[in-house]
Amino acid sequence: MADIITLLPDHVANQIAAGEVVQRPASVVKELMENAIDAGATQVQLVVKDAGKTLIQLIDNGCGMSKADAQLSFSRHATSKIKEADDLFSLSTKGFRGEALASIAAIAQVEMRTRRPEDELAIQIRISGGEMEAAEAVTGPVGTTISVKNLFYNIPARRNFLKSDAVEQRHILDEFHRVALAHPKVHFKLISNGNDLFNLPSANLRKRIVGIFGPKTNEKLVPLEEKTEIVCISGFVLKPEYARKSRGEQFFFVNDRFIKSAYLNHAVGMAFEGIVKEGAHPGFFIFLEVDPNAIDINIHPTKTEIKFEDEHAIYAMLRSTIRHSLGQYRVAASLDFDHSLDLNPSYESTKQVPVSPKIEVDRHFNPFSEKEGKAGYSSGKPPKPEVKWESLYSGTAISDPQGFHDPAEFPLEESEELESRLFDQDTVESKQETFQVGAKYIACRIRNGMIMLHQARAHQRILYESYLSRLTMERGGSQQLLFPVKIEYDNKQLTLLEDIREGLEQMGFEFADWHSDGISIQALPAEMEEVQVERVLGQLIDDLDQELPELGYSINDRMARSLAASMAIRTGTILEAEEREQLVHELFACKEPDRAPDGRPVLITLDNKFFDKQFS
Ligand code: ADP
Ligand code: MG
Repeated sequence: MADIITLLPDHVANQIAAGEVVQRPASVVKELMENAIDAGATQVQLVVKDAGKTLIQLIDNGCGMSKADAQLSFSRHATSKIKEADDLFSLSTKGFRGEALASIAAIAQVEMRTRRPEDELAIQIRISGGEMEAAEAVTGPVGTTISVKNLFYNIPARRNFLKSDAVEQRHILDEFHRVALAHPKVHFKLISNGNDLFNLPSANLRKRIVGIFGPKTNEKLVPLEEKTEIVCISGFVLKPEYARKSRGEQFFFVNDRFIKSAYLNHAVGMAFEGIVKEGAHPGFFIFLEVDPNAIDINIHPTKTEIKFEDEHAIYAMLRSTIRHSLGQYRVAASLDFDHSLDLNPSYESTKQVPVSPKIEVDRHFNPFSEKEGKAGYSSGKPPKPEVKWESLYSGTAISDPQGFHDPAEFPLEESEELESRLFDQDTVESKQETFQVGAKYIACRIRNGMIMLHQARAHQRILYESYLSRLTMERGGSQQLLFPVKIEYDNKQLTLLEDIREGLEQMGFEFADWHSDGISIQALPAEMEEVQVERVLGQLIDDLDQELPELGYSINDRMARSLAASMAIRTGTILEAEEREQLVHELFACKEPDRAPDGRPVLITLDNKFFDKQFS
């Protein structure tokens, strides 16, 4: 039998490859917009006709191409963005595969005009069915204009497969939004069938979101900000009350590239757990910056999926950053009774820049750290304040005669400060005004009503955050015991303890001996009493044993929760005025003051309107 294998001609290979890259008009929109961004354009205009089926035109003012580059750009694997395989690990461009223009040219009639700043004339190229028809010098502005006409004109089966104009247009808008959100500094325009749909001048992210989704969106945004070595997180989540049945406004960007990630979605879901109704999807615009070395975006031809090296750490940080921001917002919203109902502030009128007051909270503040030798919790109550709480909330005594910073009127500035003036002296009254109700709740006057705290849960929250920082950052202080305490454990318990030994030492425990039927302890965390230790460790073992290892909860988190629950003051404990006040102020220095570590509410607010209603 004769040999039967032949190499496919280029235009056939390109047509086959095009199937991967170009599924519909929106795929072309994405590739062309990304090329414009990669070319450094500051102005990008997209023109579509008939949902892109007849025409997709992209005009940019980027770097343009030389004549040779322009001709080469339509060949497969022609790219200026990587030179060798190693470059794949330090990508800073959207494109790198060198496939888009070749694929598009294989299945549409393409015209390109491009000019570099240093050239006098532009070059114009026409390609049909993958064949270059003409290349001529013409006059034209710096930048590149590409027109893609009659998509799939040579593959009727694919053309027939396209959905209605409405559906295809929806896909185009999605791609347009994604690129426009990822690059707020770039001016984008979209014209469809002769109508101006979007005109988005260079802006900050908040303005860009508002430009796309409408002025009402401004009021819904809660800013995020967290910087760590592994990842920087920024952007916004929508307030929980705007969560919707459908997955509407959900955007992840990694290094300014839109991506989809079920895993990160889950992290957001966990952050909103218990705050939104079951089945409702919170909205978000989340930007992650990571070292390009630590990601692999090469696993899907349309590049919306991504692999992270530190997936688990990013999950945990994302979740806690969102919870932190939501916590601050929720407390702000519940304390802010004068909150203006004008949901639609006019930005033009807010010319004066509001001062964003700072709360300088010492996150590592450990209420027990200065205690030496003697256990401080003899009565099961919080110890005396070591830090004057006033000093935790500095910079608040100026400039805002309202005494309150309205979260709805955050300035439209690029750096979104998370700090807000929640706890200035006007808000939680400095001199006393707290009392205990039923040895269970603490009532506390605020400017326009009162808050009720659940004392046990409030203390759990305080301890939980302090323990967590001890477990993950600074080792806690210890007190040596005169005689080691011996506790007996069975094999299973000992294995569990062994797993958390390091954490326990970090908490301030020191072990003299670790034998086959138990342990002996020679030093305890400074605030723990000898009589408590057996109960606390027993509870910890039970908790760790019983709790299913939940996704996203680290062992440190679970330890901190269990220990906080064991060590916190209980319902029924009578507290002195000073202790009550300290509890209130330590609570408000927490990252998430409104929830106990297990998610149950810590405080409720009763404003004057509430009282008025009761008395009406
Ligand atoms: P990739 O973006 O993966 O490199 P493309 O097929 O999308 O592959 O583009 C091929 C090359 O053509 C790019 O690497 C770039 O050098 C050039 N190019 C494409 N579009 C533009 C543009 N709008 N402005 C300047 N150069 C462009
Ligand atoms: Mg490209």
